[in-house]
Amino acid sequence: MDTYKGRLEVICGSMFCGKSEELIRRLRRAEIARKNILVFKHSLDDRTTLEHVVSHNGTKIRAFPVEKHTDILKLVTPEIDIVGIDEVQFFEPSVVATILELVDKEKHVIAAGLDLDFRGIPFGSIPPLLAVADSVIKLKAICIQCGNDAHFSQRLVNGKPAKFNDPIVMIGAEESYQARCRECFKIDLNPKVNYEQKQL
Ligand code: ZN
Repeated sequence: MDTYKGRLEVICGSMFCGKSEELIRRLRRAEIARKNILVFKHSLDDRTTLEHVVSHNGTKIRAFPVEKHTDILKLVTPEIDIVGIDEVQFFEPSVVATILELVDKEKHVIAAGLDLDFRGIPFGSIPPLLAVADSVIKLKAICIQCGNDAHFSQRLVNGKPAKFNDPIVMIGAEESYQARCRECFKIDLNPKVNYEQKQL
């Protein structure tokens, strides 16, 4: 009996943990197995070329840039077996519905994304995606300060740790990111305030 093919795998972790590399590795394996793959990235992700998902170590795979996640539904035709989505956190939270619709259509979806933002707060659609996924991989980077495993993305503005309430886009400031461990991650407000305020 043929098994149900729809499923969701999520690859998450901090910046520089190899998410895109792992996504590309899985898609390459699928290509070798003669599966039809289609890969998407948000059109705002201009980290590299618009037509490819590129990992930090330079491996790449062709990808369609889309502005809205609903565009993915229009582009995935019946012959597609596997749908890859990189930087899934850039899409609106309702991307979860789009992904579940693909799974209902018996697509194997592999989504990669940042699980925590620069404040150490779960990123948009990632928590529900992790919950509904068939399997989850959390990759770790190496802390640039001490060499331990890292799962935080340290944002630096003009070389100093960004503040909790800094705007997402700071015009004129020189910004960079580093992978850091829990101990070396620096922010002026403990990320736990996010949960205290919600009074859960
Ligand atoms: Zn560290």
